[in-house]
Amino acid sequence: MAAVSFPAGGPGTPVSAWIGLGANLGDARAALLGALDAMARWPGSRLLRVSSLYRSAPVDAGGPDYWNAVAELATPLAAIDLLHALQAIEQAAGRERPYRNAPRTLDLDVLLYGDERIDTPELTVPHPRMGERAFVLQPLAEIAPGRVEPARLAAVQSQRIERLGPFWP
Ligand code: AMP
Repeated sequence: MAAVSFPAGGPGTPVSAWIGLGANLGDARAALLGALDAMARWPGSRLLRVSSLYRSAPVDAGGPDYWNAVAELATPLAAIDLLHALQAIEQAAGRERPYRNAPRTLDLDVLLYGDERIDTPELTVPHPRMGERAFVLQPLAEIAPGRVEPARLAAVQSQRIERLGPFWP
């Protein structure tokens, strides 16, 4: 049986998790909306805040522009179970991983899980690369300004990103 871990407050205590959403293939906006809708339906989970929709240039990758957003989800899921639930949404959206940083129909990352630090082979939280990415920091700063250092945000100002406007609910 797979090991099950529980949030710091104990099993079933909701934790605020911040999820990064991105897509750059097919109908990317619909893919992000579908992912938010799926998360909002998880038993006991609730979407607390969703950033505006953003369009950004691919980082370390080719292909079309990405569409990005960040959502705050209150969830009773343990961090690893949250990751697996997000991966199930990615799979349902037709996600394939032919090579590293390939264009994707849907990419869902656990950016933050409460104040926890997690370092396992399968899951690292805070997300290891979030501090270098404008497409994460800018939407995160919009809905959780206290979780983004201004100096970090300033350091990624050269990355191309455009705020398109609110898109949820
Ligand atoms: P990607 O192809 O960018 O979606 O990366 C997915 C891989 O990153 C999976 O094998 C995950 O186990 C791993 N991973 C590690 N930390 C995280 C995280 N905080 N959020 C999402 N995936 C993670």
